[in-house]
Amino acid sequence: MSTVPAATSATKKSRPQINLTVVRREQLSPHMVRIVAGGDGFADYVNNDFVDRYVKIVFPQAGVDYAQPLDLWTIRETMPREQWPFTRTYTVRWVDSVAQELAIDFVIHGDEGLAGPWAAAARPGDPLTFTGPGGAYNPAPDADWYLFAGDEAALPAIAASLEALPTEARGVAFLEVDSDADIQPIAAPAGVKITWLRRNGAPAGTGDLLVSAVANADWPAVGKVDVFAHGERGYMKGLREVFFVQQGLDRKQVSLSGYWAAGRVEDDFQAEKKLPIGQI
Ligand SMILES: Cc1cc2nc3c(=O)[nH]c(=O)nc-3n(C[C@H](O)[C@H](O)[C@H](O)COP(=O)(O)OP(=O)(O)OC[C@H]3O[C@@H](n4cnc5c(N)ncnc54)[C@H](O)[C@@H]3O)c2cc1C
Repeated sequence: MSTVPAATSATKKSRPQINLTVVRREQLSPHMVRIVAGGDGFADYVNNDFVDRYVKIVFPQAGVDYAQPLDLWTIRETMPREQWPFTRTYTVRWVDSVAQELAIDFVIHGDEGLAGPWAAAARPGDPLTFTGPGGAYNPAPDADWYLFAGDEAALPAIAASLEALPTEARGVAFLEVDSDADIQPIAAPAGVKITWLRRNGAPAGTGDLLVSAVANADWPAVGKVDVFAHGERGYMKGLREVFFVQQGLDRKQVSLSGYWAAGRVEDDFQAEKKLPIGQI
């Protein structure tokens, strides 16, 4: 599939453009960098109530002449799609409305791509432009227990979800990372057991660590579970079998989607969501 900028059903009204600047970069672990951003544009950011809230970060194409100040929605209306800036989807890890800052945690996955390499090299004062936020998930208040599963790309959303649970909540979380060095502290309720799965150098998006850990978990025989599972597309296809075939869960109990796909840039991954290969 050729790479053309991803299309969207969002609009200027539903996902306004926000122009921030990088305040600081923190190395959270060998494969995760936190960008804290703020500035005058923060006043335009309207937070939503979803714990998995996400934004689409704008990356102008090199060699294309865009009118300044850059306006993604005008560009999409007036320029051919091949010239649109690329976008990359990222969870807002936290928002501090007093400090007028928000944080986004980026997986550092090598030299390929736009967002990962940008975050690895970002410096205070660099522009960070995005549209959003969107979002879809909040922990179901009537669940008896919670199950979370994901890789590093979903770690920010899962960590934010765990931290939003009531203190008496019970559950399990399976988080796949490269190694011990990539384990992060998460302020989860005491009744939620976090299991870290380590690839130990194997490439992300390969192997069956995550799927088999969830399949072989100690599933309580009674009680309603609320599931949040996100990450690499192949992993999510495996988990789909576990949730709906092995466990017979109802669709309404499960938030399940691919966040990325091994070997695909995001534009192609998003376009494939409409094809059989991309459907979860
Ligand atoms: C709702 C949502 C929320 C997300 N939240 C986050 C988040 O908070 N933090 C985060 O890091 N990601 C998050 N992602 C995933 C992120 O959008 C993708 O990983 C994206 O492809 C990264 O863009 P890129 O420009 O770095 O790489 P791309 O240009 O898209 O891809 C270049 C190459 O890198 C590979 N690649 C991409 N992502 C990874 C990865 N995580 N590990 C290993 N290889 C990879 C691709 O397969 C491809 O071969 C989220 C995705 C969605 C849909």
